[in-house]
Parts: sequence; structure tokens; C-alpha cells
Amino acid sequence: MVSREQILQWLQAFAAEITQNKQYLTELDAAIGDADHGINMDRGFQKAIAQLPTVANKDIGSILKTVSMTLISSIGGASGPLYGTWFLRASTDMAGKQELTEQDLLRLLQSGLNGVLQRGKAQLGDKTMVDVLSPAVVAFEQAVSGGEDKVTALQQAVAAAEQGMKDTTPMLAKKGRASYLGERSIGHQDPGATSAYLMLKCLLAVVQD
Ligand code: ADP
Ligand code: MG
Repeated sequence: MVSREQILQWLQAFAAEITQNKQYLTELDAAIGDADHGINMDRGFQKAIAQLPTVANKDIGSILKTVSMTLISSIGGASGPLYGTWFLRASTDMAGKQELTEQDLLRLLQSGLNGVLQRGKAQLGDKTMVDVLSPAVVAFEQAVSGGEDKVTALQQAVAAAEQGMKDTTPMLAKKGRASYLGERSIGHQDPGATSAYLMLKCLLAVVQD
């Protein structure tokens, strides 16, 4: 089971990880975008964690929904609505839950991905966060249906996410600002794929503890 406390710890850990990688994410975005991904994410997640005390005793759905609303209203650019949608969809099925089973976690990750796919219309291979979120869901699902526990399943999801992140480097961007560069987007790792990997890595770290 993943407890409400662990979900709160994950959000704190991810916000700290974003702050630590703010410069790095911004440099990645400087190469193929407008050099603001680290700044956008840091602003949004700092605001989101500032809201957590107001929902500390609420269910996991309420916690995720609060994060979503804060991200949608405070991050500019493409990533605000996309991360906001990920958290919004992740929150819906988790309403009323104080802890999550492996199946709940699977639904959380699947719903978040589906939200991003519907909102952003990116496909696998378009050089976006989808190239991390999607293989992570596939790996997690395979592990869970093979009877693995949540830590093992998340380890496999994070390994797939890391590979997905690295795989964005040779890709030609087909969505977002990077797509304006055409061929010149090739050879750079996607910033949103990188932040999405960090998000899953932080979830594993908290669940593993
Ligand atoms: P902006 O591009 O508006 O400056 P950010 O720099 O914060 O916003 O975020 C850029 C990231 O958003 C990209 O690296 C990519 O991963 C992601 N992204 C952009 N468009 C899409 C989309 N349509 N679907 C999924 N992800 C997208
Ligand atoms: Mg940008």
C-alpha cells in the first residue's frame, strides 16, 4: 500500500528535485525551446506544495486535485496545463482513498497519461513527456500483472522512463515549441520528458523507503 503520507512526501520530494534541477531543465529547454521549463516547473510546484498543509488530512484524490488546480493556474507554457491535466486525471479515480494498492497506482499512472494524451495530442515518438510517461505505464502494468510488488513494478517503470527520456534525444520534435525547429530539434533531450522522469523517480524513492 502507498499511504497518503507517502503521496505527500512524493510531492515534496518532486518539488525539491525540480528546484535542484531547475537550471538543468532550463538549459535543456534553451536548446530546443524558450529556456523556461525549469522556471515554469519550479514556480508551479513550489506553489503546489505551499497548498499541501491545507489538504494534509484529506484523501489522496483531494491532495492530487489541489496540486492540479495550482499547476493549471500558476504554470505558464505547455507544461502547466499538461502536468495539471496529469494530476487532475490521476486524482479523479483516487477520490476518497487514504492509501493505494498496486492496482490503484496503475490506474493513477494510466489516467494521468490518458489525460496528457487527450489534452496534448502527442503520440509516442513526438519527443515529449509522453515518451517517458507511456513506457513507464506499460512497464508498470506488465510488472503488476506478472505479480510483482509495487516497489519492483515502480523500479521497472522508472527504468523504462529513464530509457524513454534518453530515447527522446535522437527524435524529431513534432509537438510544442521544439517542433518549430524541425530537424534542429534532433540531438537534444526533451525537457518535459526529463521532468516526467524525475517525477516517477521521486515516487519510487518514497515508496522504496
Ligand atoms: P513551453 O514549451 O510552452 O515553453 P515548457 O517549456 O514548460 O512549455 O514545457 C515544454 C515541454 O512540454 C516539452 O519539453 C514537452 O515535453 C512538453 N510538451 C509540449 N507540447 C506537448 C504536447 N502537445 N503533449 C505532451 N507534451 C508536450
Ligand atoms: Mg519552454
